[in-house]
Amino acid sequence: MAVGKWRAGDKRLAKRYVSLARAIAMRHRFPLGPAVACKGCGAPLVPGLTAKTRLGAQKLLLTICIECGTAAKKGFSAKRAPSARKKSGK
Ligand SMILES: [Zn+2]
Repeated sequence: MAVGKWRAGDKRLAKRYVSLARAIAMRHRFPLGPAVACKGCGAPLVPGLTAKTRLGAQKLLLTICIECGTAAKKGFSAKRAPSARKKSGK
């Protein structure tokens, strides 16, 4: 819903929807996640629309907000990624 409003050009209403979703998630003790919305400006983070994704040094996945430049960092490991060899084997 927030993404649709953002695409329509109503950024203020999109940020309001994100703040409402964050308040509901907090009330029900459900983590919204760092890559859902920007912590700096409250914009919904959609790769290609409002965010760009980069691989940083030391195994970090950076989701950078285009609006304000705030980066959400998430660690990743090659060991935890699903292997293609296991599926194609037996
Ligand atoms: Zn931002």
